[in-house]
Amino acid sequence: MNLVRDLHPLQNLFCNTRNATLVSCSRFAHRACRQSHSLAPQLGRNYQSLVAGAGAVRDATYIPRKEGVSDGAWKQADAEAVEEALQDGARIVKDGGLASKGAEVLLGKSLEELKEFAESRGQPKFRGQQLQDGLVKNLIRDIGEFSNLPKAWRQELLDSGVKTGRSELFGKSESPDGTVKLLLKLHDGRVVEAVGIPPEKDAKGPQRLTACISSQVGCPMRCTFCATGKGGFARNLMPHEIIDQVLHIQEYFGKRVSNIVFMGMGEPMLNLPSVMSAHGFINKTLGIGARHITISTVGVPNTMRKLADYDTQATLAISLHAPTQSLRETLVPSARAYPLEAIMHDAEAYFQATSRRVSFEYTLIDGVNATTEQAKQLAALIRARDMAAHVNLIPWNPVDESDFKRPSRNAVFRFKNTLEACNISASIRITRGLDAAAACGQLRNIYQKNPLIEGLESHAAAA
Ligand code: SF4
Repeated sequence: MNLVRDLHPLQNLFCNTRNATLVSCSRFAHRACRQSHSLAPQLGRNYQSLVAGAGAVRDATYIPRKEGVSDGAWKQADAEAVEEALQDGARIVKDGGLASKGAEVLLGKSLEELKEFAESRGQPKFRGQQLQDGLVKNLIRDIGEFSNLPKAWRQELLDSGVKTGRSELFGKSESPDGTVKLLLKLHDGRVVEAVGIPPEKDAKGPQRLTACISSQVGCPMRCTFCATGKGGFARNLMPHEIIDQVLHIQEYFGKRVSNIVFMGMGEPMLNLPSVMSAHGFINKTLGIGARHITISTVGVPNTMRKLADYDTQATLAISLHAPTQSLRETLVPSARAYPLEAIMHDAEAYFQATSRRVSFEYTLIDGVNATTEQAKQLAALIRARDMAAHVNLIPWNPVDESDFKRPSRNAVFRFKNTLEACNISASIRITRGLDAAAACGQLRNIYQKNPLIEGLESHAAAA
């Protein structure tokens, strides 16, 4: 990341020079620094030829951090990035998402809204049902594919810029255990990932299919163990962009998703209005029970109370990763702005308000937070609060550019047993799709390392 950071002024120069190429130039610099540091001085000379051949530069997966944001302690620039994300999140649903930009989106509308939409365009109400069936049952991606609608109306919808709201499948990574990560390209060329986790082959009981979905493009929280946190934040996802991920997973597996976890790219609590709007649709229209939906957070002040106000049956999962404030600050820099004591206080208040058991996520990292003593500290932290809680232990998943190590199997079980001996319910989450780069944001990283810039080498050679 240091080389990337070194090149940021260069990126900024390019981006200020030509805003329209912001995405491309960021990737350009990123690729260049990964290839060879000595290439950096050539970037200026190559830039014009690269822009001239703009067709050779496709799509963005690398998101630069906001100016002033860097590794290390939480700073004012971080707080500003988080505030921007919060404000952006509040604006999306209020302004109507893409509709505010003149493009009406069908996905995410309730049946009633689709009926009203049809009527407002001079069509009978039942067209609303046809639209919903096409979107949700037949997984139609383009207006032109609605063969159950009159051709003239389809054309009218197309002419007036109405969109289904479906994204384009941009890439995928499959693991032998059946886990699949889909890379989805959004309307503005941004890319997010969604993960489908089928049951293990020998699993007994009902056939579950879990979708791990993203809530933001990038993330401003900078958790040190997270691939997404190594980049910056671009924007929040709109409700239909969240729902779309679930449909892609259903389409890929040819079966209904049974469980949803908001553990993909992004901090869902920064985008709560869109997340909860999508949650409502997923629950009511896709028929996935709220109790099968988990919203995961590293902690954003004042948002647990807001989540409680939504009166959802969804599970709140708080990523703790450390039993003490000082250690947590080293793993989750944003902890400085939201101390552990305050998080535990708010978690207790959430339980008191909702009677919903709170889950705590704890990534076990060898030599950092996985000792028996730390298990006892974690147990004491939870037991000090009047709430029902459960701890999910997640043995560390390797991420590039990180020195963290996965603890031994014995150490993982020792930690769990210690918690249970202290009357804290705990389970070990089996890491699925490890070889398909299953940790948060890692599929994006694979593409980041192989960005779709064609011809860069020849441009460099010609310089
Ligand atoms: S773990 Fe979640 S909140 Fe933290 S940086 Fe990654 S995506 Fe953001």
